[in-house]
Amino acid sequence: MTSAPRVRFAPSPTGYLHIGGARTALMNYLQARRYGGTFIVRMEDTDRVRSTEASVQAILDGLEWLGIDWDEGPGKEGPHAPYFQTQRLDTYREHSQRLLAEGKAYRCYCTRQDLEAQREAAEKAGAFYKYPGTCRELKGPPEGRREEEAVIRFKMPSTEGTVSFDDKALGVITKPYSDLDDWVMLRADGIPLYNFGCVIDDHLMDITLVARGQEHVNSTFPQLMLYMALGWKPPEFAHLPLILGPDREKLSKRKHPEADVMLHKRTGILPEALNNFIIRLGWSHGNDEVISREQMKEWFDFSGVGTTSGVWNPEKLLW
Ligand code: GLU
Repeated sequence: MTSAPRVRFAPSPTGYLHIGGARTALMNYLQARRYGGTFIVRMEDTDRVRSTEASVQAILDGLEWLGIDWDEGPGKEGPHAPYFQTQRLDTYREHSQRLLAEGKAYRCYCTRQDLEAQREAAEKAGAFYKYPGTCRELKGPPEGRREEEAVIRFKMPSTEGTVSFDDKALGVITKPYSDLDDWVMLRADGIPLYNFGCVIDDHLMDITLVARGQEHVNSTFPQLMLYMALGWKPPEFAHLPLILGPDREKLSKRKHPEADVMLHKRTGILPEALNNFIIRLGWSHGNDEVISREQMKEWFDFSGVGTTSGVWNPEKLLW
């Protein structure tokens, strides 16, 4: 890594900070600290039903307890308030308008029932469902409908071509355009969907490396299409291996409530112990079992992250 990285942790505040999120945060933080970079926290609070104040607080408390601090925020609530996507809706609207004006996006009036019928028809035909582009060529709203009711979809430039990226953990990954569809960028109420908000923010926040869980690999392709449409240089990517629970199932908030970071605080585990445990889920340094924060800052690099899942076994913390 040559220039100082700008990295981020972008949780959706829909529950407590769990081990997987904490690992993403810790690794990004360490990367920034090792190379004199900047670490940003961005709350992706666009799911109005599931995002809660209590979850925002739980995530911030978890980061604080683990000693993971960040460098930048919008400055509205003091220098250390994180970014919130719901405070940035004008920015998303502005960029979606630009894409509409350039013919790289379009308004879609399909109703939920229309989409369900399309999906059913695809399933019946044994085909993989992709939005069929029903509204792609519309010049205006269908009769009886208004522009404000439409969602805004990204317009795939072609069905021929491939999109690739060289993931720091997984190597080169490629997808044909034909696997991607015209995805929804903005809902009718102006709320961005994940891929859209994420790209706009990562670019405007000058993020140079996006490191997140492997469950987001497939989102990287539509995101790269958007970078291309906007004429923006994409960041580098590192997708971190999934963490499995003691039952060897993918660690999830719902199935593994014991993975709540703050539960560890309540049961008397030291944050140093949990940090040490977390950093070794998918990364190691020789045979070192105990790695101090200073050593982590000196040694951690995403290029050393593996591709295989770590198993989260809380019993191992009770030495
Ligand atoms: N809000 C997404 C999540 O919590 C973030 C994914 C990303 O880092 O791009 O899973």
